[in-house]
Amino acid sequence: MAHILPHRSMTISPQELLDWYGRARRDLPWRDPGVSAWQILVSEFMLQQTPVARVVPVWREWVRRWPTASATAAATLADVLRAWGKLGYPMRAKRLHQCAIVIARDYADVVPDDVETLMTLPGVGSYTARAVACFAYRKPVPVVDTNVRRVIARAVHGRADAAAPSAARDHADVIALLPDGESAPTFSAALMELGATVCAARAPRCDLCPLSNCSWRSAGYPPARGAARRVQGYAGTDRQVRGRLLDVLRTRDSPVTKAELDMAWLADTDQRERALESLLADGLITRTARGQFALAGEEG
Ligand code: SF4
Repeated sequence: MAHILPHRSMTISPQELLDWYGRARRDLPWRDPGVSAWQILVSEFMLQQTPVARVVPVWREWVRRWPTASATAAATLADVLRAWGKLGYPMRAKRLHQCAIVIARDYADVVPDDVETLMTLPGVGSYTARAVACFAYRKPVPVVDTNVRRVIARAVHGRADAAAPSAARDHADVIALLPDGESAPTFSAALMELGATVCAARAPRCDLCPLSNCSWRSAGYPPARGAARRVQGYAGTDRQVRGRLLDVLRTRDSPVTKAELDMAWLADTDQRERALESLLADGLITRTARGQFALAGEEG
């Protein structure tokens, strides 16, 4: 089937997007008034690789228990790993703890507000630094995640999927769209929200889309050029084994024997040993002087 060529230089109307965001945005707790920059930073760490629905209850409990960076810094790494629960990728919890220690010690418990300084903090990369500067301090900096890249690829460039990430090009794309003035941070949040809730990767809900101009839709939805990316599974991966081993230690407040730990994964002993060694190497768990295992900092 022949497709109409995409329109060139299609843009996104700030008014359409902002109006839609005002009435359709999700009620997420880290968007509430009074949420601090530290608490927003915590949400961004958690959201890096975990869906919103799983983050919400963990985030709520986290900020209730440790509302500030200094409160988090005063907790043990073991307690932080326990509170992280099943969010996955637990190195994020360790880095968040390190980040809290640096902010409490070097920044008087106040999260820095500029991207360059934020990027010097443990666990804070370009995306997280920009998200905190934008959402916590309302700086008009481009914030680009996969959702934003997909919306721009479709609405502006007429492609089904975004090209490979390129910070310079992706940021330039967003800067070209950002409205002047105080609405720039809300526009960024709205762009992200549209990609997360309407312009979904597999089944965009164009009937709900507020954009009257979309280059990809106007072109008749030309298919993606490359092969579809395979979604990585979880079952049977080293990541799952690491999670199982950590689960055993999270539920205990004293060290466990190797035999007890072994029960967590019987399917493949080589894989279990590899996962165990990687957790030790990452500093998430520790081997005690008596040869038992515990969460880091809880040698007993
Ligand atoms: S019209 Fe459809 S494809 Fe275009 S931005 Fe909206 S949801 Fe995405």
